Amino acid sequence: MILTPEGLATTPDVLRGVEDQLRGETGASVAIFAGRAATALYLAYLAARRPDDEAPEVILPAISCATPANCAYLAGYRPRFADVDCRTGLVTLESVMARATPRTRAVVFVHLYGQTTDLRAMAEWCRRLRIALIEDAAQALGARLPDGGHVGSVGDMAVYSFNPTKIIECGGGALVVRAPEAGERALAVLRGPLPPSAPPEQAAQLARSYRDLHHGLVGLFRLRPEAVASPLFLNLRQYYDGLYVRPLARPEALAADWGQVAEVLGRRRELAERYAEELKGGPWELLDGWRASGACWRYTLLVTPERQVELSEAVRRDGFHVSNLYWPVQQFFAPGDSCPEADRFARRAVNLWVDGQMTADRVRDCAGRLHRHAETLANSERGPR
Ligand SMILES: *Cc1c(COP(=O)(O)O)cnc(C)c1O
Repeated sequence: MILTPEGLATTPDVLRGVEDQLRGETGASVAIFAGRAATALYLAYLAARRPDDEAPEVILPAISCATPANCAYLAGYRPRFADVDCRTGLVTLESVMARATPRTRAVVFVHLYGQTTDLRAMAEWCRRLRIALIEDAAQALGARLPDGGHVGSVGDMAVYSFNPTKIIECGGGALVVRAPEAGERALAVLRGPLPPSAPPEQAAQLARSYRDLHHGLVGLFRLRPEAVASPLFLNLRQYYDGLYVRPLARPEALAADWGQVAEVLGRRRELAERYAEELKGGPWELLDGWRASGACWRYTLLVTPERQVELSEAVRRDGFHVSNLYWPVQQFFAPGDSCPEADRFARRAVNLWVDGQMTADRVRDCAGRLHRHAETLANSERGPR
């Protein structure tokens, strides 16, 4: 099925192949195409609610973008945040279990930067407690789980993004639902009234405003960890609600880009391989989860916290795309959900882009500059002799 600008409709012929493949790879009974992964998350949360739920909760990883949390509010949930493994940034079952309450209805596992992990124990725990496990594969299109299965094949539902900066960037998102009853609940939501959307001519401007607000707070949190911003943020977030539920405008663009996923992932792995080679021996740790999953969304290194911003800024001045803006999400929404490992991870991660703008030569150039900047910073720390 597809959410079009006119409402819910059957999957158009151009997307039949995409739908069949997604359903085949994940064992889903229902696939729904929409304009964003955010829309898919909103539907997934509502499909996971029980009939007279008063105050449902969803457990989210502390390292992620804030979209899963914002969509949780839109669906009437209170988001809670679970700590991550500080070596990978991936949420752990132990920390999810520690955050569970009788009101927990869903857990989101984010395949961060394209990394995957064995999800069977988490799925088993969720099943026992009748909690929906939602795989967020927005950064992991085409990735494989450790057992060789496809992302999305273990959770009850999975969401995908095809929007700019993701693996394919033609626009759109998707939800797949494995259990038929939950699939019907998601479709029922789409047949009813949907939350109001921001008018198209405002959406881009509103999205930039949100991004600037978020980035501004990350910059503050990094320097002033004691800053209390959640009352302000929770008050302002509602004004952005119109951004999350969007129709799929161009199904034919998705059908066209879909055929290129394997090639795009192959090119990304070549660039990641080159980074791994060129960055050897530097004062950092290199994440290598992309090797096992086959999907590298960002090439991530963990540097010492004192050098994170300076190193990022230095290679950005050299003309490379680099980011370090995934801040522990609980600091925006629920500062009481302490996640110390997420804090350590967020202060060390530097993400180098391996998108269509990069080439093997530019990777070598960027890596060489990183080595030199790190040396310069180390020398200046030692001070004049
Ligand atoms: C980008 C992203 C989303 C949102 O995707 P949209 O298609 O922009 O709604 C959700 N979750 C994660 C982990 C993402 O990286």
